[in-house]
Amino acid sequence: MQSSPTPTHCPYCALQCGMNLTPAPGGGAEVTERADFPVNRGALCGKGRSAPAVLSSRVRLTSPLVRSGDGTLVPAGWEEALDRIAGALARIRAQHGPDACGVFGGGGLTNEKAYALGKFARVVLGTSQIDYNGRFCMSSAAAAVTRAFGLDRGLPFPLADIPRTGCVILVGSNPAETMPPFLRYFTELRENGGTLVVVDPRRTRTAEQADLHLAPRPGTDLALALGLLHLVIAEGRTDEAYIAQRTTGWEEARAAAMAYWPEYVERVTGVPVPQLREAVRMFCEPASAMVLTARGPEQQSKGTDTVGAWINLCLATGRAGRPLSGYGCLTGQGNGQGGREHGQKADQLPGYRKLTDPAARRHVAGVWGVDPDSLPGPGRSAYELLDALGTDIRALLLMGSNPVVSAPRAAHVEQRLRSLDFLAVCDVVLSETAALADVVLPVTQWAEETGTVTSLEGRVLLRRRALAPPDGVRSDLEVLHELAARLGVEKGFPTDPEEVFDELRRASAGGPADYSGITYRELARENGVFWPCPAGAEPDDPEDACLDVYAQDPAGDEDLDDPEPPGTPRLFLDRFATEDGRARFAPVSHRPGAEEPDEEYPLLLTTGRVVAQYQSGAQTRRVDELNAAAPGPFVELHPRLAARLGAAEGDLLAVVSRRGRAVAPARITAGIRPDTLFMPFHWPGEGRVNTVTNPALDPVSRMPEFKVCAVRAEVVETA
Ligand code: SF4
Repeated sequence: MQSSPTPTHCPYCALQCGMNLTPAPGGGAEVTERADFPVNRGALCGKGRSAPAVLSSRVRLTSPLVRSGDGTLVPAGWEEALDRIAGALARIRAQHGPDACGVFGGGGLTNEKAYALGKFARVVLGTSQIDYNGRFCMSSAAAAVTRAFGLDRGLPFPLADIPRTGCVILVGSNPAETMPPFLRYFTELRENGGTLVVVDPRRTRTAEQADLHLAPRPGTDLALALGLLHLVIAEGRTDEAYIAQRTTGWEEARAAAMAYWPEYVERVTGVPVPQLREAVRMFCEPASAMVLTARGPEQQSKGTDTVGAWINLCLATGRAGRPLSGYGCLTGQGNGQGGREHGQKADQLPGYRKLTDPAARRHVAGVWGVDPDSLPGPGRSAYELLDALGTDIRALLLMGSNPVVSAPRAAHVEQRLRSLDFLAVCDVVLSETAALADVVLPVTQWAEETGTVTSLEGRVLLRRRALAPPDGVRSDLEVLHELAARLGVEKGFPTDPEEVFDELRRASAGGPADYSGITYRELARENGVFWPCPAGAEPDDPEDACLDVYAQDPAGDEDLDDPEPPGTPRLFLDRFATEDGRARFAPVSHRPGAEEPDEEYPLLLTTGRVVAQYQSGAQTRRVDELNAAAPGPFVELHPRLAARLGAAEGDLLAVVSRRGRAVAPARITAGIRPDTLFMPFHWPGEGRVNTVTNPALDPVSRMPEFKVCAVRAEVVETA
């Protein structure tokens, strides 16, 4: 065990704040400030500061658990637990075929684990049925960006550009709750004379800091973006030279936007015309501007088109692929970016390659030493996979996810999990999903193992091992190694993360997300490396720096960074990653949500997060100080709606949809639209809002519609 501080990164969100971790004399560890990491400069939120609490054996699993004859989970040895999993997977595969075994991953897994899990599914199990919870995170933005720019990296520019742009439109994002250290970028933006426009149905703590807050009706962001584009065209604010030189598809997109007259957009969205005009002025007047989106516009059954509409706004005004300007998606999970690049997604191979691309299959199969024809094709998306459990998918291996709390229509998903012939879960705690498993494997976590993650700005980072894990736990890589061996694949699943990363580098070489020029040695030396980072002439030389192929500043006179971070911090400055180098407009139109209010369900429900909890809460609900700050769910509603329902502060409200109901205390605030309820989603039990949410899927990204569904509300108990 080391006693000096180890520089590492927070285990939670995609900001991946730097921190120092020091083993504490009596056990556990202490977090101290790491001021040299430029993203957060030492600042941490309460989740990051308290992260060592989840390392404590008081809250975590330290022994495998197996389902006993009386139905309870009981401690077991590792050999027995691994034998049971391998035996069940082999039996079910033999009886029902490889696709009867499913694999479900997570956006918190390191790049190495995501890579190994995808390889395990396709090479060892031979199944096409693998996807991960990142599908519920930013998949709509990924689909829209790929369609428009030909390459998806959440932010195609570094965070450091944000304070230096002229205006940011922040759509459906609440960093005051999700990633508080990120707020300083907007504070600095405004100190530098820039403006912040926040689009959110709620007047969040982030919206309170904005120069302009637009509060659209949930599910109408697409119409809002089209209305802004209509005004841009009507006011002659388009950048015609840029459109001609760097884009295609403008005429169709222009024609689509012209139907969105401001008065019509006001009727659809509820945003007054003067606010629309003010937003356009703020966005168009400065020399540079950005649009940043998060889950608000993305978690909709039209999420891809909604993001596409915001990208259209950037393209029409010449904002994409220019210094200090552009469109970016704020990824949520810790490795939400890297997690979608290296093969745990249903339709992709490592390096962000398409599973349907014959050349990609040949390349990756070559690295894996298998026949390309043996690789299965694309499988179901996350919700569709969960929905198929117990039907043609009979066994599931799940790593780094807790869908009993985080999936839409969660009661149904829970029932599907219960109907499986066999469920194995790897986790650090006994999550609500692990509690349903036939075998639970206790695994190491962030501070106990080395691995890489890729932050929301595409910065590949090294999380270093700072502590020895407790007795009784093993790493996910060891689990995959052991299972592969038991299933007849003795080689190809190393347990050393650096060895896995070196293979990942080779597998990603030449792909869209090319990591081949990134080495552990370089990551240990630097504060991260931005991908793409292709290897130079000697890719196996660990000293070899990557070639900077995308980042040229066409003007050649922008002092963008000092010093310039390694890799490719900025994409698309000279060309987009499409075949012709041009960005593509999407001719999108607004459409209603999958479920509109009616007489029976007259209200809209939207969901989100609170600062003291993270995702399904599996980790943070086990931290005393975070629980004290956010002990349970609540229903946020406007005073006028509360009066109509006869609800007072603290009364228990039932929120009911066609899928079920969630019950939580009322929290009355004028900072929400009177037609909308809000609930955070971090808790299980009767307050589980995902019992209520709608799994209607976006046709392109297969993202469920977490952000809007029709509900009714009633008081079930007064305070
Ligand atoms: Fe961790 Fe995100 Fe908080 Fe930073 S903002 S400390 S990365 S949870």
